[in-house]
Amino acid sequence: MDVAVTTSYHADGRPYPDEAPVSQALFDRAQATVPGGVNSPVRAFRAVGGTPRFMARGAGPWLFDADGRRYVDLVCSWGPLIHGHAHPEIVAAIQSAAAHGTSFGTPTEGEVELAEEIVRRTPVEQVRLVSSGTEATMTAIRLARGFTGRSKIVKFAGCYHGHVDALLAAAGSGVATLGLPDSPGVTGAAASETIVLPYNDPAAVEAVFAEQGDAIAAIITEAAAGNMGVVAPRDGFNQRLAEIAHRHGALLVVDEVMTGFRVSAGGWTGLDPVDADLFTYGKVMGGGLPAAAFGGRAEIMSRLAPAGPVYQAGTLSGNPLACAAGLTSLRLADDAVYKRLDELSATVGALASAALNDAGVAHRLSYAGNMFSIFFTPDDVVDYDTAKTQDGAAFKAFFHAMLRQGVYLPPSAFESWFVSTALDDAALETIGAALPIAARAAAAAGERA
Ligand code: PLP
Repeated sequence: MDVAVTTSYHADGRPYPDEAPVSQALFDRAQATVPGGVNSPVRAFRAVGGTPRFMARGAGPWLFDADGRRYVDLVCSWGPLIHGHAHPEIVAAIQSAAAHGTSFGTPTEGEVELAEEIVRRTPVEQVRLVSSGTEATMTAIRLARGFTGRSKIVKFAGCYHGHVDALLAAAGSGVATLGLPDSPGVTGAAASETIVLPYNDPAAVEAVFAEQGDAIAAIITEAAAGNMGVVAPRDGFNQRLAEIAHRHGALLVVDEVMTGFRVSAGGWTGLDPVDADLFTYGKVMGGGLPAAAFGGRAEIMSRLAPAGPVYQAGTLSGNPLACAAGLTSLRLADDAVYKRLDELSATVGALASAALNDAGVAHRLSYAGNMFSIFFTPDDVVDYDTAKTQDGAAFKAFFHAMLRQGVYLPPSAFESWFVSTALDDAALETIGAALPIAARAAAAAGERA
């Protein structure tokens, strides 16, 4: 569809109307052929209501929807786009790779370079490239089971590791957004191998290992939780998990799909080192194309086929376009980029908190590195139960007011906000102008509730 993009709609101060007729028409059309009209559930706006915006293009800090409206993007494709949309060097790298062919089903130099860049930045000795974070965690679990010869997995409520059967129990992200019970289609056998514990509670982990330690293959945890909203691990929590796991002959899998290469050059582990055995990566390392990875000590990774017996494969694994985009995205991500991301996230978070304070809205601003989210609750948030104390009506009103003022937030209170280095003065001004209006809308919704 050809989209006429207006960039000046709200330059005169008028908010966008709630109606988005072109997006609505596309959504209606999509629902005939795509379940729920979307290819990933949170995109459907079910938690906030209204019409999901169909995006036509992105440029720097901006998204442009099919109705010709412009938004500052604080979702950044759910994390990957630390350099903003259509960064010229990333676009050029993809174009150049595409001109040489899109996929060969053979090894290529680009995938070696991407693997080397990941190994250089992280504690992993070897890495296998896959196409999604889900594949990365799924295979890390299989490898942990294959390596230890054990079957049980410990995960934490509110952590999301992709839609792997064994990891959907009490999952965050879309499962939390939609308030779903555990998913039909996951067999009792798969679910019974998963032990779900409260996040940030090492005593609960000790207790379960005291009882079942010799049956547990691995603990998997988000490096810092970002899928129940952002909840940082308490000081020493991740390392404590490593110690407990190792004392019982189990592995620790640290899921850096969201945090990896976003919160520092080495991910969360670059800020908070941990003796984990396996790590998973995704998002930023694909530069906006489908690439993900898992890695760890060579002793464990060498159990993977063809070096070892644990099977894993992928037609498009290490795809040349994804490797070119990912490698360029990582090479651009130097110290100055991480410093800027930290400054921008501090600025946007402080603006949001100040606006909410002025409007008298109880909230918690919660950071893990440069990822952050706002919980509409007066209570401390340390785990999934406390994350669920937030006021959904206030978030919904806040979200829609921001959208009307031209700021695109995650359409769920259980997701992180993401900044990119592309946020410029114009984008920050748009955010700064929107926040007081949205904060007042949240206050009014809170009073009505
Ligand atoms: N792990 C974490 C921590 C994630 O945040 C996500 C996705 O948001 C995944 C795994 C799954 O990644 P993907 O959506 O690429 O399958």
